[in-house]
Amino acid sequence: MARGKRARGWAWPRPCRACGLIFTPARIDGLTCSSRCRQRRHRGDDLAYLTAGGLTAKEQRKHRKWHDEVTVGIRAYKVEMAAMMKQRDLNRQRRQERRAIETVGRAALEKLRASGDYETIVGSIGEHKARKIAKVIEEGLKARHQTKSKEQKPAG
Ligand SMILES: [Zn+2]
Repeated sequence: MARGKRARGWAWPRPCRACGLIFTPARIDGLTCSSRCRQRRHRGDDLAYLTAGGLTAKEQRKHRKWHDEVTVGIRAYKVEMAAMMKQRDLNRQRRQERRAIETVGRAALEKLRASGDYETIVGSIGEHKARKIAKVIEEGLKARHQTKSKEQKPAG
């Protein structure tokens, strides 16, 4: 899936939740080092290695903290991805709307053209727009001229 592929290469090292081996998963939400360990975990061996002996109390604390950080990191990543997907859907919707507006508008223009009102309406929109653009350009030039003359004034 595209979502899984996107996450590849972004994962950071973590202990396997089944056997405790430190590994870097292919996916950001990978929790176990192998398919065998994934099965072990699903059978109830989640974090069992921590108390199975072989780890000092200090190491156990370190691993627990590490697992907590991974959980928080995965959750944050998923929240971020969900927001990204939502934004993408929104952008797609806007693009579709723009296309629909253009199509509907064009059809309306064709109707106007057929009715003979085309020149009056399209012409007046053009004139209004042109006046607006001319005003913006004029103001822009004025502002630029003012800053330029300020810059050219000698200091003191
Ligand atoms: Zn493992």
